[in-house]
Amino acid sequence: MAPQNPQDNDRALLSSAIETATPSRLRKAFQEICDKSPEAFNLACSALLTKPGTAAAAEGSNAASAGDKRKRFEICIQCEKEYNVETNDEKSCVWHSGELDVDDDDDFWADHDEDIHGIIDSDELREQYPEGYTWSCCGERGGTSEGCERGPHESEPGMIAKSSRTRLGYILNQDT
Ligand SMILES: [Zn+2]
Ligand SMILES: [Zn+2]
Repeated sequence: MAPQNPQDNDRALLSSAIETATPSRLRKAFQEICDKSPEAFNLACSALLTKPGTAAAAEGSNAASAGDKRKRFEICIQCEKEYNVETNDEKSCVWHSGELDVDDDDDFWADHDEDIHGIIDSDELREQYPEGYTWSCCGERGGTSEGCERGPHESEPGMIAKSSRTRLGYILNQDT
């Protein structure tokens, strides 16, 4: 039987520490490690950055302005999920382009007293009771479908995202 590696204990302990550390503590530690170790710096670059020539380079002006590299992971402004720019294609994202409107026609809010239960037209209640709202883009009830539009994830400001979607013709549910 092989002698026990004293590093095994540290590994388990470190693993546990990583599990329970706050995000800001981890960020600080990670930054320090990258600053101190060129090897860690290179590993971090290959884990979190991407080079041109991948799908990312074709995604938009973000890639061009960032020079030769860019972040590999972005938060999508449409579906609000994290995505990998290297695997982002025209079917990656499903989202609603409209707003969640209060559904007044439905009995859902019949017994709702705003003084007691909260303002219906608020972000809090939209999150809590999505089924009491309908999407302005497609009329779907909130919480029932991921989205009525499909296209690439976008990290650009909404205006640019919208024009590029129209240009690429990815909109599934058009009024026409
Ligand atoms: Zn919709
Ligand atoms: Zn998305």
